[in-house]
Amino acid sequence: MEKNKKIFFTPGPTQLYPNVAKHIKDALSNNICSISHRSREFEVIFSETTESLKRLLNIPNGFHVFFLSSATEAMERIIENCVAEHSFHFIGGSFSERFYIIAKQLMKSPEKLEAEFGKGFEFDLEIPGKTELICFTQNETSSGVAVDMEDIYAIKKKNPEKLVAVDIVSSVPYVNIEYSLVDCTFFSVQKGFGLPAGLGVLIVNDRCIEKSKLLSNKGYNIGSYHSLLSLLSKAEKRQTVETPNILDMYLLREISKELNNIGIEKIREETEEKANMIYDFFDRHELYSPFVQDKGIRSKTTIAIKTPNGSGEVINRLSEKGFVVGSGYGVHKNEQIRIANFPMHRAGDIKKMLRLI
Ligand SMILES: *Cc1c(COP(=O)(O)O)cnc(C)c1O
Repeated sequence: MEKNKKIFFTPGPTQLYPNVAKHIKDALSNNICSISHRSREFEVIFSETTESLKRLLNIPNGFHVFFLSSATEAMERIIENCVAEHSFHFIGGSFSERFYIIAKQLMKSPEKLEAEFGKGFEFDLEIPGKTELICFTQNETSSGVAVDMEDIYAIKKKNPEKLVAVDIVSSVPYVNIEYSLVDCTFFSVQKGFGLPAGLGVLIVNDRCIEKSKLLSNKGYNIGSYHSLLSLLSKAEKRQTVETPNILDMYLLREISKELNNIGIEKIREETEEKANMIYDFFDRHELYSPFVQDKGIRSKTTIAIKTPNGSGEVINRLSEKGFVVGSGYGVHKNEQIRIANFPMHRAGDIKKMLRLI
């Protein structure tokens, strides 16, 4: 067992929170994997998970929390329910591009602004007037570029009638969102929440629900069991349409409670301290360097690093010592490594890992 004990600094799936094993054991002793999703017991898990998350992420009343299978599913549901024709996408890497491609696949007419991989966006653009939904990937996991929430708010303020969707998959719970200035956000649990994959969370306001109703009334296809209207009608009863991943919902409740006990401010401070430590190390290193040059747009949670001798060599060397880091994404697979800096990653372990580089 010990021999396989590794610390995962991969951008997701990643290292589990230390107590996940204990929570799984407790869940099994409490028959969580066997209870009905129509039972009172499930309804308590549903509402407590939702409440813990709302508290942790400062989600105000008027927003609904829905449970899906993944973040990718959330992209599809958002396009189906909030767009008749025109979405607009800020694309800086693979995940933001996925959102755009999904809109195309759903036969919409998405438009886009692309930034060079590893670079920031030119935000002083006019979003086309016909746009119904503006889509941002706040932390582009593939490139290690983060979008400043202030830039997103500024665009929302200039376009108050348009809906704004924000992918926060690899920055939650670190990213601090002013929910009055966005309409929906989404994430999955195998990144910053350090849980087993298989659960997506979609957070929407009533404007998204209204849009979904409007589209449905006009005869658009808003999907079936996971349309926003269908999700809402069940969520109001603290239930889900299908048999969901109850174990993951239970674990999300437990981890959100733990994070609430630590306090989100402290988590954010620690994340920044650890990120500074990692960037400082690579900025000073003779051979390695951060891929994203503009310090203002460097992600605090998924850090891309250029390697001198290819990623394979260093990945193997670290792995032998028990530290698993990610490779670069897509075409950068062999030249970059990516290091996740999520709340479960401890400064002491990061230091040990860096010393080996
Ligand atoms: C991982 C990731 C996704 C996809 O998440 P899934 O849970 O695999 O669907 C989407 N967006 C970003 C930014 C990601 O990092």
